[in-house]
Amino acid sequence: MTAPTHSIVWDTGHLGRTEAAVLHAARDIRVEDRPLPPLGVRDVLVEMKSGGICGSDMHYFADGQNGTNVLQKPTVLGHEAAGVIIASGEESALEPGTAVVIEPSLPCGTCATCLSGHSNVCPNGRCFGSPPTDGLFARHTVVPASSVHVLPDAIPAEIGAAVEPLAVAVWAVERAQVEPGHRVLVTGAGPIGLLVVQVLAARGVREIVVTDVNDARLAVAAGLGATDAVNTATQHLAAAGFDCLIECSGVTRALADGILALRPAARAVVVGQAKAAVDGIPLGFLQRYEIDLVTAFRYNNAFPTAIELAASGKVDLRSIITSTYPLSDVAAALEAPVSDPSNLKVLIRY
Ligand SMILES: [Zn+2]
Ligand SMILES: [Zn+2]
Repeated sequence: MTAPTHSIVWDTGHLGRTEAAVLHAARDIRVEDRPLPPLGVRDVLVEMKSGGICGSDMHYFADGQNGTNVLQKPTVLGHEAAGVIIASGEESALEPGTAVVIEPSLPCGTCATCLSGHSNVCPNGRCFGSPPTDGLFARHTVVPASSVHVLPDAIPAEIGAAVEPLAVAVWAVERAQVEPGHRVLVTGAGPIGLLVVQVLAARGVREIVVTDVNDARLAVAAGLGATDAVNTATQHLAAAGFDCLIECSGVTRALADGILALRPAARAVVVGQAKAAVDGIPLGFLQRYEIDLVTAFRYNNAFPTAIELAASGKVDLRSIITSTYPLSDVAAALEAPVSDPSNLKVLIRY
């Protein structure tokens, strides 16, 4: 257990204050003093230790929007975060000193979608760091106790933020219905693709072929269990007849070419952020060979498996962490992966 390194002015039921990274507009993010909500009986107060920069954070910072969600008021960014509990509401069983990772989705829990077991796609759902809901790039945050997962000693909170993208990878592999003997094609060797490779290797998948247009990223993939790494900017993907495609790049061409490399009755999963509508998807080919095209959105009950994989060492969270910035340099952290694509996961430390 890690003892809190510093305390804040805090009394249950009274407002505390903390520093947070608030996005005011595109390219205008400020570290500001913000009030904390009172600690509810089922809440915990978390002192943050790590925050992860995600592609969606980079979009909000660069453009003031991500997909169709537009920033409308100043909002704290961040949905990947881990820390240590420093206060616990009366009805929370979690002890101060406990290291936790936050599961950022906030489904309503009462609609037909939630009740049927699909809370990750709740139409009323919110998510920390998805405007207008404030996020987790703050020194302290009050969250429902039901939103945290306890981290074992093997996963220090200082890297625990990377459990969130690992949960994305676990869910994508689950949606792919991968079996140990399968041959799997992974398009995109960014943080999600590299975590998918490790989850596939942990599942005993026989062949894992990764494509990207960046040699440095492909080299990392090869070191993490990919059996082949193909730069599609310079090489043709020769292999075909894959049992599964897991598309992690968000690039339409990668999805289209990946589908054409599948065997009949295969399965393709879109996890990389999709554009609103795309031309060029070989729909006739999908139908002719009855290939199932499915999507994955965040995760559904994937954090426990993600924590288990990271704690056992089957997935190495540190393998994707390439740099760390203090909260005061959050703007530089948000730009780092854009200016240098060999950057994978950039962490904020507090
Ligand atoms: Zn993310
Ligand atoms: Zn719901």
